[in-house]
Amino acid sequence: MAGIYIHIPFCQRKCVYCDFYSLADNKDFDIFISFLLKEINLYSEKYRDENFSTIYLGGGTPSILDQSQVETILKEINKSFQLSTSPEVTIEVNPGTVNEKKLKAYRNSGINRISIGVQSFMDEDLKFLNRIHNSEEARKCIIDALNAGFENVSIDLIYALPTQTISTLENNLTQAISYPLKHISAYSLIIEQNTPLASMVRESKIKPVPEELEAMMMEFVINFLTQNGFKQYEVSNFAKSGYESKHNLNYWNHSNYIGCGPSAHSFWNWKRWWNVDTIFSYYSRLNNNLLPVADSEELTETQIINEMLFLGLRNGGIDFKKMNKMFNKDFIKPNIEEINKLVEDNFATFEQNILRLTTKGYLITDEIVSKLAI
Ligand code: SF4
Repeated sequence: MAGIYIHIPFCQRKCVYCDFYSLADNKDFDIFISFLLKEINLYSEKYRDENFSTIYLGGGTPSILDQSQVETILKEINKSFQLSTSPEVTIEVNPGTVNEKKLKAYRNSGINRISIGVQSFMDEDLKFLNRIHNSEEARKCIIDALNAGFENVSIDLIYALPTQTISTLENNLTQAISYPLKHISAYSLIIEQNTPLASMVRESKIKPVPEELEAMMMEFVINFLTQNGFKQYEVSNFAKSGYESKHNLNYWNHSNYIGCGPSAHSFWNWKRWWNVDTIFSYYSRLNNNLLPVADSEELTETQIINEMLFLGLRNGGIDFKKMNKMFNKDFIKPNIEEINKLVEDNFATFEQNILRLTTKGYLITDEIVSKLAI
């Protein structure tokens, strides 16, 4: 199971919290696509015989592209790689950039999963985040996606906004589950360095949500969604049975993937590399028929173990038996006291050598990882 990620580095405008590489002042989409196709071709020389089971168009705002541009990219991928019989093909869509007709065309071009950047159903929140859409457009986008024939619809929500309360969060979640969604990603607002949001905090224009309230909100989200038919399969991700994002599971299980587009990351057989993160260096490398790779690293055994512990805890649990076999080392013995304590305090369960976090444990994932010995 390998995946292909395509990074579309354009947005209509920047959201206050965003630190992804995306440009709000560049509309040369066709030029970008011509370079992207070149990158796909360069990769196909090496990976043509591999089997890919997921394609993910992310960004940025992939839905800023019109249907024919998206179709061109997908056709090139189809031509360049071997795809499994029914690959999961996802596009990230932002309300305000699509209508039912455009979404139907996406569906007809082979996209079978849609991830909508709703973030909130409250106008006040959306304004604060500097999103381009309002709550009515968010609702319409979900309806349009369903009417366009998408059965596998996911939405993103953000919680722990400075203006949010448990009651407005509940309102958001209640609206979310009123639609036949198959997947919800709910992230707490992170204040990333070098964003307008970080400046607002520095200048005391806003106060971040206190940690205790953020933890309460996270617990509320987990309880609400799990009581309403969603299974939590990763700290921030919830799905109806069988609708977990295969592409994201690939990342978390250390499966291979190729990333195309500026700033995209790739991972293949424990080697990771990442692309240059400006569009002009991206173009310049490809102009010289070179992959636009900025740097790479071969993961050391310690890095692999650390990542397996961290990602395992966030996603489905740490399979110690598998790790013992993989590294020919006993990971249970040096950790058994800590494991027993976690189970005793109801932070985790430990069955068949798999350590899984409980809702209470998910609230302190990072702390738990730091306590495990490698
Ligand atoms: S739409 Fe997404 S990628 Fe674009 S600025 Fe907003 S958060 Fe960033």
